[in-house]
Amino acid sequence: MIVLVLGPPGSGKGTRAKMIGQLCHIPVVVMGDILREAVSEGEEMGLRAKEFMDRGELVPDELVISLLENRLRRLDFSRGFVLDGFPRNLRQAEALDQMLRDRGAEIDLVLSVVARDDAIVERLSLRRSCPRCGAVYHLRDKPPRRDEACDECGSRLIQRDDDREEVIRHRIMVYNRETKPILERYMERGKVVEMSGELPIDKIHEELRYILFKKGLIQ
Ligand code: AMP
Repeated sequence: MIVLVLGPPGSGKGTRAKMIGQLCHIPVVVMGDILREAVSEGEEMGLRAKEFMDRGELVPDELVISLLENRLRRLDFSRGFVLDGFPRNLRQAEALDQMLRDRGAEIDLVLSVVARDDAIVERLSLRRSCPRCGAVYHLRDKPPRRDEACDECGSRLIQRDDDREEVIRHRIMVYNRETKPILERYMERGKVVEMSGELPIDKIHEELRYILFKKGLIQ
């Protein structure tokens, strides 16, 4: 089973991808995390990627495609996976089709998460994350128990470099220009289901269960 989760930055695609992984018992592959790992390893590829990420630009296709190919090679393909943050343009969509064809696999569902620009800016500018364990907080809606320290591991929380307002607005523009057009490709194949990015957490779970059930992906 292969599920893609597409949506503008801060639409909650990561939360949804994780829930789908839990509901379907399949791994979640997060392109942004793969890139952030490459950056923290400090190798040349990662440093090159960071320049684009800090500006809110897409990292060049050949770099992301080869990182994803590496990750998929190490993944047990038997049950499938959820893909969060890939593809983000037409060339990546074509590369993904090829990777799946090579493995005799097909996309079952493309979840398109939609949210208003202002809601995105508000959510992302208050987002803080733990550099050590990856836990994510929101200073108003899901604050850490102790001032800006991670509940899980106590590390000092950080604001991602690309979660500053001007970069957020640029990332939204890049999404509209590069990523939105590929939704049409998947719509033609009848794979797209839209979901609001502005639902409370219990409603997200309920709606996802319904979508996956209707698609025959869970019982
Ligand atoms: P995300 O965590 O999904 O918001 O991704 C953070 C940043 O990583 C993006 O703003 C891009 O700079 C980069 N990125 C993530 N996925 C991709 C991708 N599929 N293609 C190019 N750049 C990406």
